[in-house]
Amino acid sequence: MNNRQLFLSHLAQTTDFPLMIEVEKAEGIFLFGPKGEKYMDLISGIGVSNVGHRHPKVLEAIQNQLEKYLHLMVYGEYVQSPQVLLAKALTDTLPSHLNNVYLVNSGSEAVEGALKLAKRFTNRREILSCVNAYHGSSHGSLSVGGNEIFKRAYRPLLPGIKNIVYGSYSDLAQITENTAAIIIETIQGEAGIRVACKEYFQALRKKCDETGTLLILDEIQAGFGRTGKFWAFEHFGIVPDILVCAKGMGGGMPIGAFIANKEVMGVFKNNPLLGHITTFGGHPVSAAASLATINALKEEKLIEQVEAKANLFKSLLIHPKIMEIRNKGLMMAVQFESFEMLKKIIDRAIELGVITDWFLFCDDSMRIAPPLVISEEEIREACQIILRAMEEA
Ligand code: PMP
Repeated sequence: MNNRQLFLSHLAQTTDFPLMIEVEKAEGIFLFGPKGEKYMDLISGIGVSNVGHRHPKVLEAIQNQLEKYLHLMVYGEYVQSPQVLLAKALTDTLPSHLNNVYLVNSGSEAVEGALKLAKRFTNRREILSCVNAYHGSSHGSLSVGGNEIFKRAYRPLLPGIKNIVYGSYSDLAQITENTAAIIIETIQGEAGIRVACKEYFQALRKKCDETGTLLILDEIQAGFGRTGKFWAFEHFGIVPDILVCAKGMGGGMPIGAFIANKEVMGVFKNNPLLGHITTFGGHPVSAAASLATINALKEEKLIEQVEAKANLFKSLLIHPKIMEIRNKGLMMAVQFESFEMLKKIIDRAIELGVITDWFLFCDDSMRIAPPLVISEEEIREACQIILRAMEEA
């Protein structure tokens, strides 16, 4: 059996429409197939490869760490330099009160930790989240998800969760003194890139302050420079109580974090109530890769270039089939009339060497979220191919 057959016969499937692109090697914005195929990756493994595939500084950090140690001990017991240096570097990117980092393995786990922390710190049980939010696939993170179709088969889920509408001022009235936390994606990703305004975030922050509710911002997709700021909340002049991140954080290695004030995080160490435990969280190789990723983003001034690159995409993607483009930096959605039309365009673009896809809860919109290292010339070439795919599909 060849790899494609093994993929279908032995690898658990998650969708009716896997992209099924076979990759032998990746570099920068490119993926290379076994028969010499070359693709431009415009989705970055869903917002992961912000610094590009196999960034040299990330590879070097991984190699250096391989020479020292792999896993040593469950999280939080031994002093491991990749973890502590990463925690310091992360807090350096943040307002001073977000000074305590809990490292985990993935986005869903970061969300789990943040929800537990909010319940524990506030002694409240109600949590609010948004319609069409995606926070992960584990039971807790699915419970705060905002798509009923995805949740239905797994009920009963966590009790005490209410969905409000992202960006709706009137729904903020649902935040009360019973609310432990509201978890919200700063930019809604899987809903098809929805961006609320600064005034909304400021009203949300105010309401949380008035009611003693913790504001959890999910920047798993929007963080690490994707939107043109290191953190997306910097666009809105607010600061969360708990920040969750993952994806782009590891430069291609699995790692996530939830970040809070030391006082808030402190409730997790109050024995005898078990706080939060992870064996592999903050794996030293992933932590080293993450630190190198932060350094690469800064040293190469990649975040500063995001806005101009996004504007170039928008100026080139002009076509009667395009109904709307929504974006915050290089987190973009290009909307078409229907999924059927979009699917044909995506398939044709892949044949022509450009990879895009659609969103979990918005299947008429094309995801464009390239590695931030993409050059202007590559953007022009990619857009030409996408426009050609629109003509030919
Ligand atoms: N939150 C958001 C906003 C996400 O986009 C994702 C992943 N698509 C997650 C949480 C879950 O992250 P993971 O798949 O690493 O568990």
